[in-house]
Amino acid sequence: MVDAPEGHVGEGFFATKFDQVVGLARANSLWPLPFATSCCGIEFMATMASHYDLARFGSERVSFSPRQADMLLVMGTISKKMAPILRQVYEQMSEPRWVIAVGACASSGGVFDTYSVLQGIDKVIPVDVYVPGCPPRPEQIVDGVMQLQELVKNESQRRRHSAEYKELLASYNIE
Ligand code: SF4
Repeated sequence: MVDAPEGHVGEGFFATKFDQVVGLARANSLWPLPFATSCCGIEFMATMASHYDLARFGSERVSFSPRQADMLLVMGTISKKMAPILRQVYEQMSEPRWVIAVGACASSGGVFDTYSVLQGIDKVIPVDVYVPGCPPRPEQIVDGVMQLQELVKNESQRRRHSAEYKELLASYNIE
């Protein structure tokens, strides 16, 4: 048996480079699906407008169809009655898909610590990035998208098929 040359141990050269190209392409063409229920959604409008211009990051193509989006941005208070709908929207998105919780309400329920409000969307769907603030400024939303881009860029294609990811979905009872 021939030993692998130094620096070529582990994943094959082709697979590694291919992963990087796919990661780079995905990270710079994330199509957002805005799930906006209240005030934070207004900040998203500003984020998309010319001054902050999310198009600079390849995310100008807003999709209201879960089938044609890969970045779910949840903005606003999510009531417990709304939770199954949010979950359904997430389930309708194709893999690979990512989620950003924008603002305090989506991240933790915010000031609405009450019986009718979901105390964070991660109670019903997995979240990749949390953006703090009430509301977050557009710069913070842009920063959240940039954090997600880093994650997508560096995420091996295989993570989506990994046991760890499947386990995460299973913990939410999502296939
Ligand atoms: Fe409104 Fe603040 Fe909640 Fe955003 S975090 S939806 S600004 S109350």
